[in-house]
Amino acid sequence: MPIPDIIIAIDGYSSTGKSSFAKLIAGKLGFLYLDSGALYRAVTLFALDNGMIYRGVIDEPALRKALKVLKVSFKPSAESGKYHACMNGKNVERRIRTLRVSEYVSNVAELPFVRSYVDNILHSYGKKGRIVMDGRDIGTAVFPYADLKIFMVAEQKIRAGRRLREMEEKGEKATLDEVLDNLKERDERDSSRTVHPLSKADDAIVLDNSYMTMDDEMDWLEGILRERWPQK
Ligand code: C5P
Repeated sequence: MPIPDIIIAIDGYSSTGKSSFAKLIAGKLGFLYLDSGALYRAVTLFALDNGMIYRGVIDEPALRKALKVLKVSFKPSAESGKYHACMNGKNVERRIRTLRVSEYVSNVAELPFVRSYVDNILHSYGKKGRIVMDGRDIGTAVFPYADLKIFMVAEQKIRAGRRLREMEEKGEKATLDEVLDNLKERDERDSSRTVHPLSKADDAIVLDNSYMTMDDEMDWLEGILRERWPQK
């Protein structure tokens, strides 16, 4: 399907399947897929590794100073060509997905200096279009001019089940209750923070995929693409 060099912004609650959907879309259109949450996770991992989070309290002055030299980026993997998160040149894709990072990432992500640090990196990837980016504030704050905005929702228990399966596949141990508690807490923090809270952009289309398969989601998307960019 010939589509112009657009930006597609996918926002929504944790574990609504944003990244799986975004990856499929990017693959189908030949666009680059970027996961903005990975950068917040990388900053959080860095803070944890360097003792900047102690008993749940973030050492903000130390983190602010460290971000002046910290290099967080996306790099294509030599084998798959897929982009992964790097911290000072090292692939941290696996380490940023642990429950330990999930526990603190929303606290780190609500700091205004962390948001502007990450936003600058995200903007640098969006200059030429042809990207699908997912997160919480892509359609509202990072790329408010995105050509297509999708806001994903799904029932909380279904989301927790999906997250748990994902973690188990990676060999991480957790219970459904732990995952559910973490999701609830992040939903609450992400939606209520003052800087760039998770919210639906006025012009975003809602996709509730609680009972949808990936094929259903792709059919839904194709309908939207055909409607917005009819073939000549
Ligand atoms: O998408 P993921 O769940 O990996 O994101 C981790 C956390 O990063 C979210 O819970 C949220 O606190 C933060 N985040 C954000 N803005 C984004 C992407 C992620 O605040 N655009």
